[in-house]
Amino acid sequence: MVLDKANLYDNAKLVLFFRALKVEEVYMSDFTKINTKDIMENINLNSFKVRILCPICNSDSLILKDKVKTINNNSDFLVSLRKCRFCGHWFIDPMPKQDYLNKLYESGSTFVVEENYKGNEEFNYNNLEKYISRFINLNSDMSNLNYLEIGVGPGHLYNFFKDKVNICYGVDPCPYKPEGRYMVSDISEVPDDIKFDIIIIQDVLEHLEDPTLMLKTVRKLANNNALISLGFPNCDSTLAKLLKEKWSMVRPLGHLHYFSSKSIKIMFENSGWKIKRKYSYWPAPSAFYYITNFEYKSKNPLRLVYRIFRNLIFKQLLFGKDQWYVCGVTN
Ligand SMILES: [Zn+2]
Repeated sequence: MVLDKANLYDNAKLVLFFRALKVEEVYMSDFTKINTKDIMENINLNSFKVRILCPICNSDSLILKDKVKTINNNSDFLVSLRKCRFCGHWFIDPMPKQDYLNKLYESGSTFVVEENYKGNEEFNYNNLEKYISRFINLNSDMSNLNYLEIGVGPGHLYNFFKDKVNICYGVDPCPYKPEGRYMVSDISEVPDDIKFDIIIIQDVLEHLEDPTLMLKTVRKLANNNALISLGFPNCDSTLAKLLKEKWSMVRPLGHLHYFSSKSIKIMFENSGWKIKRKYSYWPAPSAFYYITNFEYKSKNPLRLVYRIFRNLIFKQLLFGKDQWYVCGVTN
């Protein structure tokens, strides 16, 4: 067993080795002589595990798409972007463990959030109402419903529901979340004797070690006929296929998962949810919003033309639908 030559950047041989032994999870701490000279000290290798199997369908047929840098510009830490041949899911390998991710988010680490990020302050409220009307009538009586939101962020959605519903629970490890009686840092702090009718997990699953586990956990907290509303990156999109590892959604250790139509289906089936509606969309507001809010000031006219082309023509009209919207109900 020649593990002393193990290199974190090229674990293909190790993957074959452990696959032969039928080991599912390998912790980085198992490699005592791993080459760490290029790795920033503040990356804790014990907090990662090498993925031998697809995190969604458990297939061992994986393709290496590329090596990618994390969003921390000061670090040379490289991770692999892998694709599952069976379900088409893309994911980051090695995968940070959830307790470590929680710590990174709590401390506002630049491995998971952009520098100086305080939540999305410039929020478009027309867009918010449009989002909510995807799964519930805005004017309906919600006073008997319990609401649970995972990944509250600065609380735009949460604040909309707070005064309309019976109990309004929010979960977020980030320090900039709103304060309140029902605001907690981790899903494990939500009492299991409350059953929820509306569950929102918007732009969250891609940040977690195990998205299926999160769906199973909220399923246990869901009432009969509960609604679940989710959004996350779409690796079936033309933008993802064209740009591959350069796709703007590939942002480790912030984003760790990129979903295919098939991986969503498997994830829902394995967690007790049924898909009600599913479509791909472009995350920014409408073309009208783009035109009226576009930053036209630019000294370089070529750059302006490029920005118009990129934002309006390329992303908005042609290939921009790189997010999934999925609405589900309890199965
Ligand atoms: Zn898979």
